[in-house]
Amino acid sequence: MSNSPDLDSLVQQMAKLPGLGPRSARRAVLQLVKKKESALLPMISALQRVADTMATCEACGNIDTQNPCHICTDPRRDARTLCVVEDVADLWALERGGHWRGRYHVLGGKLSALDGVRPEDLSIEPLVRRVVQAKTASPPLEEVVLAVGATLEGQTTAHYVADQLADLGVILSTLAHGVPVGGELDYLDEGTLTLALRARRPIE
Ligand SMILES: [Zn+2]
Repeated sequence: MSNSPDLDSLVQQMAKLPGLGPRSARRAVLQLVKKKESALLPMISALQRVADTMATCEACGNIDTQNPCHICTDPRRDARTLCVVEDVADLWALERGGHWRGRYHVLGGKLSALDGVRPEDLSIEPLVRRVVQAKTASPPLEEVVLAVGATLEGQTTAHYVADQLADLGVILSTLAHGVPVGGELDYLDEGTLTLALRARRPIE
């Protein structure tokens, strides 16, 4: 503890962040306050800008500072391919890989009997509507890649989504092996993820 309630409260907020325990949070706060001009003030203005402009993209579910997001509005993105991911973190991981040129659709989680996540809790219905619409767009949507984790729940989700899209006349594919069983996409290195995406295979 620092003897300052304000500093302690900042440390507590920081310690809630993933990957930061109380010890790392104290070090981060100390670094920020020691370097007020070069670290703390730029951090405050960056946080404020994001807080003012942050939005969830109505089209794909990405989190961005504009709605529709930068990816959905980028004319260079290939409208013929759509990559379905569980979470925004997975979208960001694929973008870091830098090889996916299509657009995305974020489900917002995965089906889980254990956690009580049902199909209607995820963005599946909007995905079906989007695919139906995109089929008649120019150029038309041709392929949907189900890029979900190789966990039991991820695979259950992929099969459910594939069933919903089965009769819509698009190619359905999934990530190649190389995604470790039990693996969450966000934890894969970008190279593995890119390879798995390139070597994607049709869903049986
Ligand atoms: Zn978007």
